[in-house]
Amino acid sequence: MLFDKFQAMADFQTELSRRDVKPFGAITDEVISATEGVVQGRRVILAGTNNYLGLSYDPRCIEASQAAAAQWGTGTTGSRLANGSFAEHVALEAEMADFYGVGQAIVFSTGYAATMGMCATVAGPDDVILLDADSHSSIYSGVKLSGAEIIRYRHSSPDDLAKRLRRLGDRAGRTLVIAEGIYSMLGDVAPLQEIAAIKREYGAYLLVDEAHSMGVLGETGRGAAQAAGIEDDVDFIVGTFSKSLGAVGGFAISRHAILDTIRYCIRAYIFTASSSPSVVASVRQALRIVREEPERRERLWDNATRLYNGLRELGLPVGPAVSPVVAVEFTDREQAIAAWYQLFDSGVYVNLVVPPASPSTNFLLRNSMSAAHTPQQIDHIITAYRGLLDAGLATPKTAA
Ligand code: PMP
Repeated sequence: MLFDKFQAMADFQTELSRRDVKPFGAITDEVISATEGVVQGRRVILAGTNNYLGLSYDPRCIEASQAAAAQWGTGTTGSRLANGSFAEHVALEAEMADFYGVGQAIVFSTGYAATMGMCATVAGPDDVILLDADSHSSIYSGVKLSGAEIIRYRHSSPDDLAKRLRRLGDRAGRTLVIAEGIYSMLGDVAPLQEIAAIKREYGAYLLVDEAHSMGVLGETGRGAAQAAGIEDDVDFIVGTFSKSLGAVGGFAISRHAILDTIRYCIRAYIFTASSSPSVVASVRQALRIVREEPERRERLWDNATRLYNGLRELGLPVGPAVSPVVAVEFTDREQAIAAWYQLFDSGVYVNLVVPPASPSTNFLLRNSMSAAHTPQQIDHIITAYRGLLDAGLATPKTAA
């Protein structure tokens, strides 16, 4: 019957309903700061958000948002192409274009709409898309809608990408290569220098999703492409306002003037209401802070280093390099769930990630750092992880 396919999910939900608190969709009762909240009655350190610069609770952003709500009302009630383009949206687009040093930017209502919309539109039925096998759901959704031939390359493998582009022959010039800056689940950074060199060699186009890297990487916070020094090779950058900028919404920028025409072809831009002006105003303020306070980025990386080193020294299976996203991998589902509950009981909220959201068959406790975390909070998180080892709920990577 129609609903059979939901049975496995229903069983999983039942399994998780043994306790009041569920790892998926736990309810935040109160926000205390960018790094602390009350989740289902328990005060916890928030180590499973994407609040990389701690801007979700910045008084300046809140004030900008309140003033815009008073000036413009609560919502636009319409599409950007109808009545929903307010001066706030246009100003943010100009500011994003200026931030990236390009001529054009588009503001979307969500990051998902930005990525999906661009991937669905830039390549069409006569074109080819080469996407990283571990791409985010919004990329997969978009490319399916594009009608283009879809080919996956092995995660972050320039060799595999080059091999597949070579096989395309003449069609390489009609190919859109897609990569992410920082990958959301394991926190690894794409080898963009190598990818850009291959793209150049074959005359393909490159789109980079900087959702987790904008504000986080690069000399001025433009992201992984800036950090890799290959911005001139990137044809399109997409990203979100829901992570380092602490609000919600998405963007696309390009050094190609055609972006302003593409705008009128993106269904996820046209057939949805534009973002609320109060949200846009807070994003504009957050962007100003990103530009004026680079020390936040430094603090984020200091914090990421403290957490990464702490967990690695415990012998936990973390990734190969420091990143604001530090994932601890588990092969056993029961153990991962029990570990999540024990961390929660120790006052630490992290993300539990299960396949297919995790890039392999493994389960993850995904920790994300913020510039706003204090060293004491990070040490508390590390101590909570030591408790997992003591309870036999996590296995050290090495015997040492
Ligand atoms: N792209 C990537 C790589 C993401 O990780 C996400 C969100 N997790 C999105 C796009 C969508 O962004 P948003 O949640 O702001 O809609």
